[in-house]
Amino acid sequence: MDTTSQGTREQLLATMRQYWGYEGFRPLQLEAMEAVLEDRDSVVVMPTGGGKSLCYQVPALCKSGLAVIASPLISLMKDQVDALTACGIPAACLNSTNTPEERRQIAADIRSGAIQILYLAPERLLSERMLEFLAGVDVSFFAIDESHCISEWGHDFRPEYRMMHMLKETFPGVGVHAYTATATERVREDIAQQLGLSEPEMLVGSFDRPNLNYRIVRRADRFAQIQEVISRHPNESGVVYCIRRADVESIAEQLNEVGVKALPYHAGLSDEKRASNQEAFIQERTDVIVATVAFGMGIDKSNVRYVVHAGMPKSLESYQQESGRAGRDGLEAECVMLYSSGDLVTWKRMLGDLPGNAQDAAMRSLDALDHFCIGTECRHRMLVSYFGQELEAEECEACDVCLGTVDLVEDATVLGQKILSCILRTGERFGADHNAKVLCGSRDKRVLELEHDQLSTYGLLRNDSLRSVRMWIEQLIGQRFLAKVGEYNVLKVTPAGRELLRGEVLPKLTKPDASDRAESPKRARRADDWEGVDRGLFESLRNLRREKAEAAGIPAYIVFGDSSLREMARHRPSTLERFRLIKGVGEKKCQDYGEAFTQHIADYCQQESLTVDAIDTEVVATPRREPPKNQSPALKDAFVLFSKGQTINEIANVIGRAESTVQSYLEQFIREEKLEDPTAWVTGETSRRVEEAIEQCGAGALRPIYEYLNEEVPYEEIRIVAACLQNRSS
Ligand code: ADP
Repeated sequence: MDTTSQGTREQLLATMRQYWGYEGFRPLQLEAMEAVLEDRDSVVVMPTGGGKSLCYQVPALCKSGLAVIASPLISLMKDQVDALTACGIPAACLNSTNTPEERRQIAADIRSGAIQILYLAPERLLSERMLEFLAGVDVSFFAIDESHCISEWGHDFRPEYRMMHMLKETFPGVGVHAYTATATERVREDIAQQLGLSEPEMLVGSFDRPNLNYRIVRRADRFAQIQEVISRHPNESGVVYCIRRADVESIAEQLNEVGVKALPYHAGLSDEKRASNQEAFIQERTDVIVATVAFGMGIDKSNVRYVVHAGMPKSLESYQQESGRAGRDGLEAECVMLYSSGDLVTWKRMLGDLPGNAQDAAMRSLDALDHFCIGTECRHRMLVSYFGQELEAEECEACDVCLGTVDLVEDATVLGQKILSCILRTGERFGADHNAKVLCGSRDKRVLELEHDQLSTYGLLRNDSLRSVRMWIEQLIGQRFLAKVGEYNVLKVTPAGRELLRGEVLPKLTKPDASDRAESPKRARRADDWEGVDRGLFESLRNLRREKAEAAGIPAYIVFGDSSLREMARHRPSTLERFRLIKGVGEKKCQDYGEAFTQHIADYCQQESLTVDAIDTEVVATPRREPPKNQSPALKDAFVLFSKGQTINEIANVIGRAESTVQSYLEQFIREEKLEDPTAWVTGETSRRVEEAIEQCGAGALRPIYEYLNEEVPYEEIRIVAACLQNRSS
């Protein structure tokens, strides 16, 4: 790695630690952040929960100027701004809910540099007025969230995204970066082309979500099956998806009758009702949302522990999106689909009104989904291969197939051979339906006309239902023993199929109705996520989190994610110093919540006779407190010059870096050297005034401090004094 990227990496890491309390990068995050810092256009594809937002939020803080983020939904923007504010990062969103006064304030904050990240809906961003306004400020880069909406080939095309090419035309020197969770190669190319990106960096992460445990069970007693999943997650958040509104209503009602806190969500409810039910879910006043597909866009809730599909989704894209709402925090989560071929018929009827091409595409998507449901291959592998990727691991250890909870037919070889023989006997000239009828001994007119009732394979499977035989044929296709050929999907026996006929290989075929076993699924590989966690403390910290969230009017998961709470309930920190070491605790959150959480932990531990500070500080503290190794020469030089008392401007000239970079080096220097006196860089008078302002306004958001000081003290100076003050108090 060259020295520049080493310095860049340190700068990004320092920012991540300070604001988010994170210690390392997720896959592709560093590359994506570097592209932003270096003004190379990029298209970044990462699965849900992969950490796309940080890819542009962290560099936004390391670059000078305003980062402009286009995002399609008001709720998403609000969520992001709330989360940033909770971390002490100045951000805002402009949308139809702002009053004129708020809008003026945001514009003033942008001009003064108080806001570094601005969220906008695409149509607002591209309005003449906004483009004119942005031309007058220093825009550091543009980020396009949910950028698959740009492409007609994507599953959620939005015409307003089409005009995004105006950004490159209006701001030729400014980087444009696109982010999405679902994009085939065709969609990626289309995004780059529509945006007019120049030689963009294409960063495509794995589509696999290893923390999700997939299970597909045949629907039998629907409510009991749903209840069974919920019973494994008491007091945890989950979503139950249904196809019809009536099912949403009845399941929600039944759940409440058995004491589960559940609320409905569908397009037939009033806007207010929908908004309040969604809010109750986000704020954790209800555990379960029972919903149609209308629910989910714009929900960033990170701690959804399970998603049940009480009815089939309409495509694998939809399934990936809907099930993907589970486990965004990277902790284990369960995705259960109750499969019924009747749903397939329902969807076919519902999609039957689509115009020609769209209808064909919708039917193909449905078939792919059906194939996935009845398949006997690893679910993770099937999903990623649908999106054009290979799964690296041999076995995922997180699906019903790999964990062996799918109930398989015992003598699958003989069964498979019977089916393949029939296909050969009918001359490999017919599709699955016809062959299934022959095998089941049907008196269908066409079977009789063709005299297929005279074949030796006629009625070989007369004790099985037509539906089961159709399913086995699909499974044999999935395992490449059969291939569908030509316009009429005629079945042919493949070379692997010949091996099966010779008894050299073993197929996997499922029992028709037996995969709906009521037992709990085997634990997936991430069982250690709970290791060492005191569950009682975790629950009581969840309550404290809820109280704090309600008081601040923000979603509970924005206060702290579940993984942070588990770490707290594992390490049980009793001091702020130790609390600060928990993943997800940045400086602002330590200031805002440290006192209350450590006190709560100490009280709980005393009551339950548990030791506090369960892990040795030395061990935990090492990564964070150690000064960065391999400092870049620029950073080292800056540190030497800081200790000689040189000004930011002088140092920027000497080391050839932007003043904003040197500014971030200085904050790092102050923290690492634990300096308590800022007067080498600000006057004594300024220091005193800022300290007084911090005392009055708190050390959280900078804007109130800036305003308290009549906008007379620049933000850089406020940050320096705040950093020294923080050292004095820790
Ligand atoms: P996406 O937009 O790709 O769905 P998010 O940006 O919402 O994902 O990130 C998902 C969760 O992971 C968030 O809670 C986020 O704070 C967390 N996260 C992101 N990057 C990291 C990291 N490097 N270390 C730890 N947690 C991270």
